[in-house]
Amino acid sequence: MAEILPTGLNAAQQAAVVAGDGPQLILAGAGSGKTRTIVHRIGHLIADRGVAPHRILAVTFTNKSAAELKSRLSSLIGDGGGGVTSGTFHSISLRLLRRYAEAVGYPRSFQVIDSDDQKALIKRLLKQANIATDRLHPSYLLSWIEKCKHLGQTPQQAPADDWNGIKLHEFYSSYQQQLRDHERMDFSDLILNVVILMREHPSIAEALQHRFDHVLVDEYQDTNPVQHEWLMLLCAGHHNLTVVGDDDQSIYGWRGADIRHILDFEHIWSGAEQHRLEENYRSTASILALANMVIRKNEDRYDKSLRATQGVGEIPQWKVCNDEYDEARQISAQLRKWHDMGYEWQEMAILYRSNRQSLPLEQVLRETALPYRIIGGVGFFERLEIKDALAYWALLNRCGDGLQLMRICNRPKRGIGLKGQEQLAAQLAASGLRAPEWLDLLANEQAEGAAKKLVPLAKLIVSLREKISSLPDRGLMELLRSSAYLDGLQAMGELEAGGRTDNIQTLQRYIELTMEQNLTPVEFMDRAALLQSGEEEGKSRDNENSVTLMSLHRAKGLEFDCVVLPGVEDGLLPHQRSLDDGEVGIAEERRLLYVGITRARHQLKLTHARVRRLFGETHHPTPSRFLKDIPAHILQQDMPVKSVAVAQSSENGMGVGSSVMHPSFGEGMIIDFEGAGDAIRVSVQFRKVGIKRLMLKYAALVLL
Ligand code: ATP
Ligand code: MG
Repeated sequence: MAEILPTGLNAAQQAAVVAGDGPQLILAGAGSGKTRTIVHRIGHLIADRGVAPHRILAVTFTNKSAAELKSRLSSLIGDGGGGVTSGTFHSISLRLLRRYAEAVGYPRSFQVIDSDDQKALIKRLLKQANIATDRLHPSYLLSWIEKCKHLGQTPQQAPADDWNGIKLHEFYSSYQQQLRDHERMDFSDLILNVVILMREHPSIAEALQHRFDHVLVDEYQDTNPVQHEWLMLLCAGHHNLTVVGDDDQSIYGWRGADIRHILDFEHIWSGAEQHRLEENYRSTASILALANMVIRKNEDRYDKSLRATQGVGEIPQWKVCNDEYDEARQISAQLRKWHDMGYEWQEMAILYRSNRQSLPLEQVLRETALPYRIIGGVGFFERLEIKDALAYWALLNRCGDGLQLMRICNRPKRGIGLKGQEQLAAQLAASGLRAPEWLDLLANEQAEGAAKKLVPLAKLIVSLREKISSLPDRGLMELLRSSAYLDGLQAMGELEAGGRTDNIQTLQRYIELTMEQNLTPVEFMDRAALLQSGEEEGKSRDNENSVTLMSLHRAKGLEFDCVVLPGVEDGLLPHQRSLDDGEVGIAEERRLLYVGITRARHQLKLTHARVRRLFGETHHPTPSRFLKDIPAHILQQDMPVKSVAVAQSSENGMGVGSSVMHPSFGEGMIIDFEGAGDAIRVSVQFRKVGIKRLMLKYAALVLL
């Protein structure tokens, strides 16, 4: 094991920390202290090399990791760490655009569009052009546009792709125009617009290049081409770019991440120094053995050696369950067992491939009274009533726009149907005003057609504005009450209305708390937009000591003592979508499993359900292909008591989990034993033909 220096780093980490100026690449496996190294390097730049904190930019993967970086920094060097600019590509871009938006043709007060409104906008565009969904699906068009944006292409630079005779780039163009008309940017625009800003305005590019002396990026393996260009432009002057990453953990190919940015770093940045970290400080040797065995099968990777430093530990467990509810109960029992062994709830995590997997888990954890919290999924800010309330609040505080007005114009019902909404949109556009000012006009009863129906709302908003004398934390509840929005919720049923009203009250409290930090309404909307994108997490203090449930994608960079990975089966991991995508998709799924395994420090359990109801369908999945050929001393079968007894008595050594071959059904795995002696029946999950129940005596199974 490498000696740890007084700084709490090993020699390789220390060398990367104190490396001089110029491009630095730290390429190393999971848990090798990459993030720790980057934090120490920032500390070193400030404390030993006299770089002012505000001249350092740290790009992290989530805003939560940015906050963590700051707190780690302040414990390392004191409060000075607070001055470092840190955040995600998106949040940093948003901050830059608040200053420079005008140069790309937006007012500084532009807003970020949420995914619902984005989809509604695309649908409207296609409808106006009389294009039916079966000819061009809105989500296909949207993902095509996103792909262009990930590649850094503006509508003019987009390829002239044709889909069923439809020119996609023309829609890209009109979509951008619509966004502009509404003073909105989508998430991908944030990054692309900063790139355009620097491409087209050399003086701004120069100012930005002088703004930071050092740029450091964590999780670099997941940068896409436009983010890469963002960094190239920003560091063009000084080349002081330090990146850390692990090609084996690249899991955002579907968002355009390109592994080549890390693999070709030294060619892209001449004179780059490379650092390798080879000790793993996180996981036990047993967990690492499984991780290494899983990832070894991927081609096209840097072969990294990763040595364990944490002792052998317990062998990871594999559990086959009957269905997703049985799986949830087994998991709950396992968590309780770990808790009895002395592990804290907050040191445990359940990491799943799809957010939908959380539903049965949530139900069972609630029934068994286990404390848990869910990160991601349908978050608070994605709820219908929260979006509505925010739209009302934004209009009240003069930062709302036409899309928000359209959202609430008929909630509660004001007799404005689809036609009426189209008319409203046209009237608003013709007025040349922004939505809040247009409402001022309506309040003076200068209204015709559909707009007339909005006069009472406009009057209410104007009078409330006076009453609250521009204190943004006031007026929301009164507006929702007097506009009959809250009554409208009752139509959903008492129980549901109650829950939704509670949510709105939570929002009101959140607004009050946030306003104490002197945020402007526009800044508040930015924060809500980031929260909604899942880049920031609402802090829930009351359940800090609880088990974390989140998707594997979210778990990147994190660590827990005990980890459960449910649904390690074909169809989920690898996910069906990537199975359809072929080898590239499957390799990415394998990396995702690797990310999941390497989150665990001491205990790891993988589960599989023989029957899984998902997306309204019943599946009979087979165990994940990634676990094929993994021997029992690396991944141990956790057998149900009943089966253990029977399996041990079965003379030929077959047990649950044994791989077997049947003369006509082919290869399979035993998933259950029933009965005894000559009457033993086995259930076998065959790769090709699914589950079969067979009499062991006559089945002619051969152990593989
Ligand atoms: P990932 O690839 O998952 O992002 P990473 O390479 O960023 O992992 P860190 O999160 O920085 O790894 O470190 C993993 C764990 O090992 C942390 O708990 C960290 O504090 C610890 N660690 C890192 N380096 C050392 C060291 N030299 N001595 C002791 N502990 C260390
Ligand atoms: Mg890390």
